[in-house]
Amino acid sequence: MADCPKGRLIIGKSSEPSKEVRLGKRGAENSAHPLPRPAILAWICVRACGGLCYQVSMTTRSASTTLDAAAANAIARHLKRNRSAMLAALGRLVRVESPSTDKPALDRFARLLAGECRRAGAKVQISRQKKAGDHVVARFFSSTRGRPILIVGHYDTVYPLGILARMPFRVRDSRAWGPGTLDMKSGIVIALSAIQALRAARIPPAAPVVCLFTSDEEIGSHSSRALIERLAHRSRAALVLEPAAGREGKLKTARKGTGEIELTVHGKSAHAGLNPQEGVNAIHEIALQIERIRGFNDPATGATVNVGVIEGGTRSNVIPESARASIDLRVVRAEDAAPIEARFAALKPCLPGAQIEVRGGFSRPPMERTPQVAALFAHARRLGDLVGLLLEETGVGGGSDGNFTAALGVPTLDGLGAVGTGAHSPEEFVFADSLPERAALVALLLASIPDTLPAQ
Ligand SMILES: [Zn+2]
Repeated sequence: MADCPKGRLIIGKSSEPSKEVRLGKRGAENSAHPLPRPAILAWICVRACGGLCYQVSMTTRSASTTLDAAAANAIARHLKRNRSAMLAALGRLVRVESPSTDKPALDRFARLLAGECRRAGAKVQISRQKKAGDHVVARFFSSTRGRPILIVGHYDTVYPLGILARMPFRVRDSRAWGPGTLDMKSGIVIALSAIQALRAARIPPAAPVVCLFTSDEEIGSHSSRALIERLAHRSRAALVLEPAAGREGKLKTARKGTGEIELTVHGKSAHAGLNPQEGVNAIHEIALQIERIRGFNDPATGATVNVGVIEGGTRSNVIPESARASIDLRVVRAEDAAPIEARFAALKPCLPGAQIEVRGGFSRPPMERTPQVAALFAHARRLGDLVGLLLEETGVGGGSDGNFTAALGVPTLDGLGAVGTGAHSPEEFVFADSLPERAALVALLLASIPDTLPAQ
């Protein structure tokens, strides 16, 4: 409630719909999907000052207003009751290993996942791949009209085959451990459980739902990028079920664009004692180049370059003939990528006789916090309020497949997956309670994302 304006009549547009609006107190507005239309509310408060205050608030009804608190809580309660079933489903997925580079293992997992999706009511299509693992497209609510909502996830993990012997799936102290529990098999469970919860609560989705589960996100999404972009193009929004940020479970509304450069230096070998003057030291040359490259970092724009691997030479008494460096690239803004690539391309050798070769560049555009992304987050935050989730947002340095969807201008919300820690490490786990909580949020999003989000 606003502060008492001492008798002034306030008429204006509310940027944040009031609780009363969101909860849809009036009977006619409690139907699941009325058409968006302006709502006018008035309420009166009597304050200690003795004045009578009237506030008239006009707000445009967003689709979130079409969900009343009772429906939202019915979904949340249903999912809470299903917590152990969700953990069991997570166990089924984690116990089938799926390293990014092992096609037989990935395809085995894709078959298991296709079965889980069919049981949840999907029409499943397998996108067969020659070298990469097969991708799984699961379509739900196909008879619903309108542009679909795309759910994006990956089922590959960074762990080698056999890791389960050292990292078995286990649930203890309300936490579930195991390879890929957090990143991101729990995200898959959350997506399918959200869809099932809508059915159980008889709440219609706002749009058809397309789930895309890919096999190669952890190694750059080379085989899946075109499919991700094709499906995203047709969608009203993309929900990415990567892990939430931090223990607070923040959603991700920005991610840096990422790339990699391979710098190779060719020199000339010679005996370090007999004829060093006839050699060209490739390690010396690459050291000089690395010092130049360090200057490509730009704290003002958030662009970073990191020489993460360096190799070269054979023996200490040999002038090294070759050296190599792998360099990680990141930018916050799309416009900063090409100038950095151009600076690498313009590198010239420092030592006479040395040659340098530059390969690679940016492979994921940044996910920028556009007005559409901000609008989708604001929508999610209002839904979170309905079920007692206080949602915050953050930007992160790592990329995901959300970078591709956001770069196409599709409103994208990332980090909708489980809350936990230790991704890509032996300590990976999720908080069990976060599974039903996040699934409730995803279900509410599926029930309410409008075809066009209002500008913030
Ligand atoms: Zn991931």
